[in-house]
Amino acid sequence: NIYLDNAATTAIDSEVLNVMMPYLYRYYGNPSSNHSLGRKVHEAIETSRRTIADILDVLPEEIFFTSGATEANNWAISSSLEAYRIKHIITSAIEHKSILETFTEHFYKNKIKLSFVNLDRKGNINLNHLEQLLVENPRSLVSLMHVNNEIGNITNIEEVSELAKIYRGIIHSDIVQSLGKFPVQLNSNGVDFAVGSGHKIHGPKGVGFLFARKRTNLHSLLHGGGQERGYRGGTENVASIVGFAKALEIANSNIEKVHKHNQTLKERLISGLKRLDLEEFEFNGESESLSKSVPNILNARFPVLPNNRLLQNILDEQGIHVSSGSACLNLSKGGSHVISALYPKSDGENVRFSFSKYNSLFEIDTAVRAIAKVFKQEKKRFLVKDL
Ligand code: PLP
Repeated sequence: NIYLDNAATTAIDSEVLNVMMPYLYRYYGNPSSNHSLGRKVHEAIETSRRTIADILDVLPEEIFFTSGATEANNWAISSSLEAYRIKHIITSAIEHKSILETFTEHFYKNKIKLSFVNLDRKGNINLNHLEQLLVENPRSLVSLMHVNNEIGNITNIEEVSELAKIYRGIIHSDIVQSLGKFPVQLNSNGVDFAVGSGHKIHGPKGVGFLFARKRTNLHSLLHGGGQERGYRGGTENVASIVGFAKALEIANSNIEKVHKHNQTLKERLISGLKRLDLEEFEFNGESESLSKSVPNILNARFPVLPNNRLLQNILDEQGIHVSSGSACLNLSKGGSHVISALYPKSDGENVRFSFSKYNSLFEIDTAVRAIAKVFKQEKKRFLVKDL
């Protein structure tokens, strides 16, 4: 199998699995129990919290463990809308669905005004328009992600925060796709709320965090046994929390190495796909750029194959796993809201390739050859260069 869908999820690192195992088996005490086994497990959670907080340059009490980034996004948004009596939200059309759908619900239920910041055709935020929206609506909730999960675009969050602060905005940022890939310093980048997820960085699924800056108002998400300092009741997912911290530790100490590795893979895939010289072929968003997008994501538009055959499915039959965009989307309506927001008129097939430290150049070459073969069989329709 060639797995090129690492923006959807990643394989767990064996080192991560090793640190998790004792908490699934030997150290099974309830972290809230007041005996030595409980205290040991409780200490493991707090050590993990400190590890994550140190890497992000924030305080341990600013990190709240959740079941993932979806929960954390929902929590951050409803909390900030309620606590700050926000009447206006500024976001973009290419945010993750866990953000857009939460906003839509508040828009309908609570009549909160929703504005979308203008994007250029490559998905970059128009800062002048953002400022204009802030001038018209001071004290807005500004929610913009750091790295887009489909096209890999990087947004300058420091710049967004600086601007939003001038107009007393509250800033929320989904940092799922930049966590462990950049040295993200939440203390200095000005955001009030941020969210991360374990399974995108070779950690376990079903664990994430909400960062809420110390003086921000947070409402309790789940009432119960007082866990997470009373904000999110329920016995903690101990093994996953320990695994998440380990995964972030590993990712953080290998940022440069993995960045270079992914960049090499991306460059090879870009040149391989360009050499095919396909008609109507294009890279989506900024994903071709090595400076404006992350090195582990490449999103390309291919010509549509006859007879409703999908390139993604043909590759899948050969054990090459790629995505048509966000995995969550395949469960609901199909198609990508990010691509349709940026290219409403285009009708190619969009494929997202996303890499990790476990991929090799050989795998990239194999994928390119497989794609070449598909289009060669349609030679009359598509001009394909021999490799
Ligand atoms: N935000 C972004 C940018 C993502 O890529 C994902 C992953 O699908 C999520 C949020 C959701 O994360 P989780 O699966 O932890 O709920």
